[in-house]
Amino acid sequence: MPSTLLISDLHLSSGRPETGEAFFRFLAGQARESGTLYILGDLFEAWTGDDELRAADGDPLARDTAAAIRTLADTGTAVHLMHGNRDFLLRDGFLHAAGATLLADPSVVEVGGVRSLLMHGDTLCTDDTDYQSWRGTARSVKWQDEFLAKPLAARRAAMLELREASTRSIRAKPAAIMDVNANAVVDAFRRHGVQRMIHGHTHRPARHKHVVDGAACERWVLPDWYQRGGYLVADNLGLRLVRF
Ligand code: MN
Repeated sequence: MPSTLLISDLHLSSGRPETGEAFFRFLAGQARESGTLYILGDLFEAWTGDDELRAADGDPLARDTAAAIRTLADTGTAVHLMHGNRDFLLRDGFLHAAGATLLADPSVVEVGGVRSLLMHGDTLCTDDTDYQSWRGTARSVKWQDEFLAKPLAARRAAMLELREASTRSIRAKPAAIMDVNANAVVDAFRRHGVQRMIHGHTHRPARHKHVVDGAACERWVLPDWYQRGGYLVADNLGLRLVRF
């Protein structure tokens, strides 16, 4: 059985080229051996629109990333991409360039032969009510249409402001609010009828054991790539987190 790899929260940004280099090594290395790669959100630190790929002054990292994923996809590894809270404006332009398919959040897929619930993870952080309210706005067709109608330069400036506002608001919140809500986790296991959940977003990599209605369940949290990076692998040996 070819292995399945899962990553999230790379937060690729031209300001941190070492993360991009680590990702390109991963795509040309470990990912080549795998049958399927899932990217569960926040591939990019921010995404202002797919025209970033075509613009004369477009971010080279955006183009290089699409091309590197495309090279992997062309060797036969299926690449599935889920939106995160940073890069939810990735659309067909990027997907085509990268040879990837968009995966809805949430989705239930077989990972290592077990039905598994895949999510970015932000929808589990229900204690952060400010964020959930903003998420509702930013995921609306109205907000996205209005935002994408602006010139690229205006979108870049607006995105920078949004990121700065987000950083200030995160600093002002207790750490517990930024983690998943225990009831939201149990709800998700029940609603989707699964015993395994895999998500990122919280940057708190771990394997958590849960008991839901008497059934043993597990929740894998993927690592972010700010400092070290890493991935979850599912193969003949089972599931395990690998850190760089
Ligand atoms: Mn996130």
